[in-house]
Amino acid sequence: MTKIIGLTGGIGSGKTTIANHFRSLGISVYIADDEARKIMQTPEVIDAIKETFGETLFEGAVLKRDKLAEIVFNDSEKLQQLNAIVHPAVKRHFKQWLLEHKEFPIIIYEAAILFESGNYKDFDSIISVTAPLESRIQRVIERDKTTRDQVLGRINSQWTDEQRISKSDYVIENIDCEIAKKKTEEILKILRIKQKDS
Ligand code: ATP
Repeated sequence: MTKIIGLTGGIGSGKTTIANHFRSLGISVYIADDEARKIMQTPEVIDAIKETFGETLFEGAVLKRDKLAEIVFNDSEKLQQLNAIVHPAVKRHFKQWLLEHKEFPIIIYEAAILFESGNYKDFDSIISVTAPLESRIQRVIERDKTTRDQVLGRINSQWTDEQRISKSDYVIENIDCEIAKKKTEEILKILRIKQKDS
């Protein structure tokens, strides 16, 4: 049976960088945030968003993602309503993806908010990627051309590294990329041994 490994970490920690390294080691990776972005463009989800948030969020058929992000960031009830639309759709999509990958002994599911969403209970093991707060802030400012305040706003809406570490089976500290990649390879070795023994 496929072992489903959750890979998480705060914004700018380097989850996607580590996920890509797993991929380069031959592991299939499901990037939940990318899939959610695609799923939000499907007619079924667009209709549900229109019904809940109104047509003004759309320019023709195109969803104004920035506007929606601004609304849900400042209103937890609206965030819950959006999650109630998107999360089940991603869950269904992942279930199907898993069926298509059932011959793989190990797959990685990468998501920024595994713990916050309660999703972490669905995984065989969880890996958290950590990095010093200041490095994370600088990486995201550089990558997204955004402001320090905006990054801090996102960071403050997520769990802390300490909270994530306390519920994780493995931790990858991503300061030096090469050291983090080595740690990834060590963890994969352990996961493969555990999979064989199970
Ligand atoms: P998000 O939650 O925003 O999706 P993430 O945790 O997936 O972020 P990445 O996108 O992997 O993080 O990394 C954030 C940025 O930091 C990227 O531009 C990446 O190239 C860079 N980065 C990742 N790891 C390191 C590192 N060890 N040293 C320097 N830069 C890094």
